[in-house]
Amino acid sequence: MAKHQFQTEVGQLLHLMTHSLYSNKEIFIRELVSNASDAIDKLNYLKLTDENIKAALPGDWAGQINISFDEADKSLTISDNGIGMNEEDLIASIGTIAKSGTKSFIDNLTGDAKKDSNLIGQFGVGFYSVFMVANKVDVISKKAGEEQAYKWSSDGTGEFDLAPCTKESNGTVIYIKLKDEEAEEFASKYRIQNIVGKYSNHIAYPIYLNYSEEVTEELSEEDKKAGKEAKKTVEKRHEKINEATALWTQPKAKLKKEEYNDFYKSISHDSQDPMLTIHTKAEGVNEYTTLFYIPKTAPMDMYRADYQPGVKLYVKRVFITDDEKELLPTYLRFVRGIIDSEDLPLNVSREILQENRILANIKQSSVKKILSEIKKLSKDEEKYAEFIAQYIRPLKEGVYQDFTNKEAILDLLRYKSTKTEDGKMTSLAAYKEGANSEQKAIYYIIGENEKVLRNSPLLEAYKKNDIEVLILDDKEIDEIITPNIGAYKEWEFKDITACEAPKVEQSEDEKKEVEEKFKSIVEKIKDKLGESVTDVRVTNRLSDSPSCVVKDVGDAQMAQMMQMMRA
Ligand code: ADP
Ligand code: MG
Repeated sequence: MAKHQFQTEVGQLLHLMTHSLYSNKEIFIRELVSNASDAIDKLNYLKLTDENIKAALPGDWAGQINISFDEADKSLTISDNGIGMNEEDLIASIGTIAKSGTKSFIDNLTGDAKKDSNLIGQFGVGFYSVFMVANKVDVISKKAGEEQAYKWSSDGTGEFDLAPCTKESNGTVIYIKLKDEEAEEFASKYRIQNIVGKYSNHIAYPIYLNYSEEVTEELSEEDKKAGKEAKKTVEKRHEKINEATALWTQPKAKLKKEEYNDFYKSISHDSQDPMLTIHTKAEGVNEYTTLFYIPKTAPMDMYRADYQPGVKLYVKRVFITDDEKELLPTYLRFVRGIIDSEDLPLNVSREILQENRILANIKQSSVKKILSEIKKLSKDEEKYAEFIAQYIRPLKEGVYQDFTNKEAILDLLRYKSTKTEDGKMTSLAAYKEGANSEQKAIYYIIGENEKVLRNSPLLEAYKKNDIEVLILDDKEIDEIITPNIGAYKEWEFKDITACEAPKVEQSEDEKKEVEEKFKSIVEKIKDKLGESVTDVRVTNRLSDSPSCVVKDVGDAQMAQMMQMMRA
């Protein structure tokens, strides 16, 4: 037997699992079942694409998951007949941080046990959650198409053992020796049924619960009279405890909100209900089903380059991949769900997916559908404010990523402005609607701080003329996106730090007169500022402030600095 040291981060993670994340221990079952289901998904796919694997499996092979428990032994076992793991897989998957997940999970911990246990699934560190309840774990696994099985064992401290062993068929058995204080709760028929029902009801494969039950023989009246003792026997049970239907294949009318929500939780590792559910069946040229969800809270990895895509691809109910970032455009990376196509070939290789015409069509219609459902949501101001709070940034990305749907996305954006208050926001449509008849552009100002922006002297002339100015205080993204929007329904976007201010009525003579009057002071200022400015001018831009700095060739930062010094 070989002893292996866990990589440092895994050690750290295990320590956290066993010592800090106490609040939601039951999710370890969800995580192990979801791994079992993934393992069967993978084998299902290989069976279709790899002749050798197909030959190695029994003709009637069908994926299934088994859970058993033993009260006396204080143990729980979860097994599957999926792809299995060989020696290298075991080391790479559950011994090291080959995946980026472990480290970013640790980096993202908040210290709030409830929130943190929610992160477990999101960062792909689900397996280790078993150590919240286990004293010791054995993973016995045999990879499909290979001869040798291996046993991985660990008590969740610094190291794990790995040794060859025997196992008849492919798949994985996870034997969990429960901690004394957890045994009563989890080595229990009702508790397991309840957890599986809650998180894994619509896993596509059957989950069986196996246990032994003592039954007492029913005696007839005669036997009772005769004083006969009832015999006690132990019977073995093997009961299916989930629906095992691919939820999305069922007709919309039959499905309850609760079932949709449960399914969402089982695929998203989220414990909240989703914000939006979008179930579509398309018939005609392309036949497919999509079931999309928008999470209430934006996924934790939304701003990481190595984010995990949230949409899984199926072909005729067979899982193909959950690692394809092109199924939806990047700006919709917060969407969770499935796409199930009837037309793609079952043995479609993951490599050619990106160029596939059918998939491109599905993608296009899906985007339109999702955007139109968001639009519907926007009719409810309160709910929409929650959506905007989570997803305004990716939507803004969409404006420049998705040329086809630019107009639709612009309609979904919301902005603070000189005419909104108390955290309220306006739409571009409302902006246009509220503008006076002479206005022909959308004015905006960009900066880091809403308060500073609202106090900008540049706004004065606009206020005097009753022109609304958008306050864009998400500088990092606004600065990239807004100047590139071009126009919204023929109205140009104009940065007020770089454009002519609206004219305040003034004749040429008046202008001359004012310029004359201020000539000497302008000269003095010019003299003092010297090289640091290009020009000093009398302006009618301002009405209350004596002066302001404006951009010449686009040095907004300088302008801001000067303004702060002035303030
Ligand atoms: P994730 O499922 O997000 O990848 P986990 O920590 O749950 O993260 O699992 C880590 C890896 O271990 C999986 O990606 C998979 O490769 C492997 N694994 C875990 N359980 C099984 C299983 N039952 N069968 C095959 N491989 C498994
Ligand atoms: Mg997992």
